[in-house]
Amino acid sequence: MRIALIAHDRKKDDMVALATEFAPLLRQHSLMGTGTTGGRLQTEVGLSVERLLSGPLGGDLQIGARLSAGEVDCVIFLRDPMTAQPHEPDINALVRACDVHDVPCATNVATARMVLGELARL
Ligand code: PGA
Repeated sequence: MRIALIAHDRKKDDMVALATEFAPLLRQHSLMGTGTTGGRLQTEVGLSVERLLSGPLGGDLQIGARLSAGEVDCVIFLRDPMTAQPHEPDINALVRACDVHDVPCATNVATARMVLGELARL
């Protein structure tokens, strides 16, 4: 599967911990991520991740465009609900695209664990 991984700044440590926990599973899939998140997953977890632009520079939109074209199967998007983001419209567009195209989108760690756990059982 093609999995997109995105985490806002205050959720990046959670993303690294999650990806470390599920690293054996994630290695079996094709991964893409926004710039900073993808970089941390590469250096700290050792995953192979296609890095797109940083979220505030359009990375969420790039993932949304790919998803809309049928090129993303699952999104793990650890959003920070307590901090205003300059690219809020982009974030909403990506989540909306997931709903439009019925693509699983986990926006917190608990849901991400369920989605990845399910993926491990497939
Ligand atoms: P980043 O982008 O991984 O480049 O920080 C994520 C975001 O803020 O949407």
